[in-house]
Amino acid sequence: MNKTFGKLDARIIKDLIAIAGKENVLIDKPDLEGYACDEMAFSEKYLPQAVVKAANADIITGVLSLAARYKIPVTPRGAGTGVSGGCTPVYGGIVLSLEKMDRILEIDEKNFAAVVEPGVTLDKLNKELSRSGLYYPVYPGELSATLGGNIATNAGGMNAVKYGVTRQQVLGVEAVLPNGNIIKSGGKYVKSSSGYDLAQLLIGSEGTLAIVTRIILKLTTRPLFREVLFVPFNDLQDAIDAVPEILRLEMVPIGLEFIERDIIEIVERYTGKEMPYHDYAAFLMLIMEGKSENEILEYFGKVEEICKKHGAVAAMVPGSERAKRRLLKAREQFYPAIKACASFDVVDVVVPRSEVAKFIKKVKEISHKYEIKVIAYGHAGDGNVHLHSIRLNITDEDWNKKEPHLMKEIHEAGISFGGAVSGEHGIGFAKKAYLPLQFSPEEIELMKAIKKAFDPNGILNPGKIFDS
Ligand SMILES: Cc1cc2nc3c(=O)[nH]c(=O)nc-3n(C[C@H](O)[C@H](O)[C@H](O)COP(=O)(O)OP(=O)(O)OC[C@H]3O[C@@H](n4cnc5c(N)ncnc54)[C@H](O)[C@@H]3O)c2cc1C
Repeated sequence: MNKTFGKLDARIIKDLIAIAGKENVLIDKPDLEGYACDEMAFSEKYLPQAVVKAANADIITGVLSLAARYKIPVTPRGAGTGVSGGCTPVYGGIVLSLEKMDRILEIDEKNFAAVVEPGVTLDKLNKELSRSGLYYPVYPGELSATLGGNIATNAGGMNAVKYGVTRQQVLGVEAVLPNGNIIKSGGKYVKSSSGYDLAQLLIGSEGTLAIVTRIILKLTTRPLFREVLFVPFNDLQDAIDAVPEILRLEMVPIGLEFIERDIIEIVERYTGKEMPYHDYAAFLMLIMEGKSENEILEYFGKVEEICKKHGAVAAMVPGSERAKRRLLKAREQFYPAIKACASFDVVDVVVPRSEVAKFIKKVKEISHKYEIKVIAYGHAGDGNVHLHSIRLNITDEDWNKKEPHLMKEIHEAGISFGGAVSGEHGIGFAKKAYLPLQFSPEEIELMKAIKKAFDPNGILNPGKIFDS
């Protein structure tokens, strides 16, 4: 533990209550337990000394000014659905929860923009937008996640092939600095060449630079039709080999996922529902939107041709809205299903799309060498590979001895193929050890200098991304 941080005492807690209101300051152990970790599998828990539920930016200013005075660590938290330990308060102190800042302030149809507070969930925004002809296209599988959390992790998800990730959909932010001052960057305009882009710097900074208090999101016109294509293969490599050719077609799918059969079995066990073609080794799942069903089906015809050339055994479009929904829902259940099956570690490496097949081949060799099962699925269309090393049929001693080496070698392989440590989950505290595989000491020092410029006392989300 870092001894340079201060601790909350009765006097500081009294000040917190004066700033945020008694009902918004939690200090009893049972209340704190729900804020001790995120959704990262089998994470250690770290109790904060207090949770403050902020209702507005002024309260955050008050809390951060107080924390700066006494050098108390402050960890921002959205919905806690992160999977890298980003909102886990590893140094205790204050968890600053944004859950109460959940107002949609404006849907500006003329400027294709939504102005929201950071605690608004994806689910709430989607429901509000369903009343308009507009939609927010970023779709990280977990709808209870907040937009503030999405910004802080630069969340991706299934629609990234066409729409990119959160970074591409944010027009501007307001944020509170660790000294309590408020900054704004960006606006309802779609371009700017006006100095450094601080909004973009905050995106993906995992709550280590400032607390985002207001967000201007870019909206897009709601597509009229959306269809899914499910393609079984006898071999994962064949499935992945088909991807570059699919992406060269004149239309771009919104999502293009690959799935290994092991995952299908795990999800079937978890949901109690059978998946189509579940005996095959691997699958591609395409999500496509368009102006008409015919337009999409014509595109799927071309995709089917490519896939069959690469050994696909069939290509199935679900026959009903219900069947389509079930397929998409099953994809969303991968993470909880694996979590329910065995303990595991998760890799979120992204590689250039042309390297996915080679990377997975290398991962299978590493998995074989260490005799630890590694199952793969992910966003084939954007090169983001999710791998789970599964703790099954292995002694604790062997797991503890071998698994860290397996993980390091997998990350090294990803980097050697020109990739990055995390495609969408963030570094948090779980992936810190791998960052130097990707960046030189000089590059990491530059990041630390940026951190220092924003947060000279190092109080905001310490212990994340790198050790300051
Ligand atoms: C089942 C499941 C499926 C998932 N699928 C995907 C997926 O497909 N793609 C994907 O990208 N992610 C996915 N995730 C991960 C997760 O949903 C995202 O990381 C999400 O962006 C986290 O949002 P949150 O509100 O829960 O943030 P939290 O977990 O609360 O926090 C995440 C990070 O953001 C910081 N933070 C939160 N709010 C603010 C703020 N207002 N200002 C500054 N910093 C802040 C925190 O300090 C922390 O570092 C999945 C998670 C689960 C459980």
